Amino acid sequence: MVTRSSTACQSDGWKRELARAHRDARTLLRTLGLSARDIPDLDPEAQEFGLLVPQAFVDLMRPGDPQDPLLRQVLPLRAEHQQAQGFSLDPVCDSDAELSPGLLQKYPGRALLVVNGACAAHCRYCFRRHFSYRALGPAEPRLARAIDRLSLAPSVQEIVLSGGDPLMLDDAQLAELIDRLAAIPHLRRLRIHTRLPIMLPSRVTEALVRMLTEGRLPAILVIHANHPSELGGPAEQALRKLAAHGVRLLNQSVLLRGVNDSVATLQQLSERLFECEALPYYLHQLDRVQGAAHFQVSDKIATILVDQLRARVSGYLAPELVREIPGEQSKARIA
Ligand SMILES: *Cc1c(COP(=O)(O)O)cnc(C)c1O
Ligand code: SF4
Repeated sequence: MVTRSSTACQSDGWKRELARAHRDARTLLRTLGLSARDIPDLDPEAQEFGLLVPQAFVDLMRPGDPQDPLLRQVLPLRAEHQQAQGFSLDPVCDSDAELSPGLLQKYPGRALLVVNGACAAHCRYCFRRHFSYRALGPAEPRLARAIDRLSLAPSVQEIVLSGGDPLMLDDAQLAELIDRLAAIPHLRRLRIHTRLPIMLPSRVTEALVRMLTEGRLPAILVIHANHPSELGGPAEQALRKLAAHGVRLLNQSVLLRGVNDSVATLQQLSERLFECEALPYYLHQLDRVQGAAHFQVSDKIATILVDQLRARVSGYLAPELVREIPGEQSKARIA
């Protein structure tokens, strides 16, 4: 059993930070010494998928720089309204792979559970930006159904928790979910895909670390950093704490024009990740979701970048360049 108790102040700190996250573009720009005039393409109203970013991430942006790579990831632009050919609402065809609502199996041996819909930040390139989490229905009985379904799928050894961001659940909910998964005898590993150690490092509380390390299933955290500047002091401490307790850390990035599409940036990212005890895993080619076309890097340039990176770093510091192709047995390697 995982300990449920934790000191109130520690478990609440991240929620308070989240409640104070930026939701208004003009205020965010002001804190960075910028104004709407510095960003001619700004979409200050962004109705459908509004601006959301915690101050911890804003602290890592360079004041006065409208091109800051962290700012670009969260600032809504009018370019998102362009209809680009080949960009759709459900680019990875999630709906074709459901075992039960929100439980997807695309690849042998592992299944992915969409735990929730919330994130600490809204990344503008997100392929789930049009995903209707509401259509999934309330967490219960949906999660109970998924657990029942998993119990009947003995070939699944690894459960991947995804979302949204699964670490947005509070400790009690998360502990309960992990306990229920640990009770399924054929599961051998618990993987969590999360951007919170980057966006909201205060989420990595002692209680969370205990929850991930004291249960039956070994935990793997796949974090999501796109740029070396995202791995500031608090994120580094959070990651080191997880690693020190035996949580394995991998990173996936999305290749994004104007954010990390240079070999020097990718090299620094890999090196910073290593310093933070995480290894690069995947570098994703953007899923072609409507609204994200302005971030796209061509496969030709992506391949050149990864080849150049391989010539500069140790093999284990070069992520695999992949793309999600519906119907394949694994993520497709591009180079
Ligand atoms: C990406 C993904 C996984 C994980 O794939 P790995 O190659 O093992 O990282 C598992 N299930 C689904 C549905 C996925 O989209
Ligand atoms: S944290 Fe992940 S799921 Fe959430 S908005 Fe960003 S990319 Fe999308």
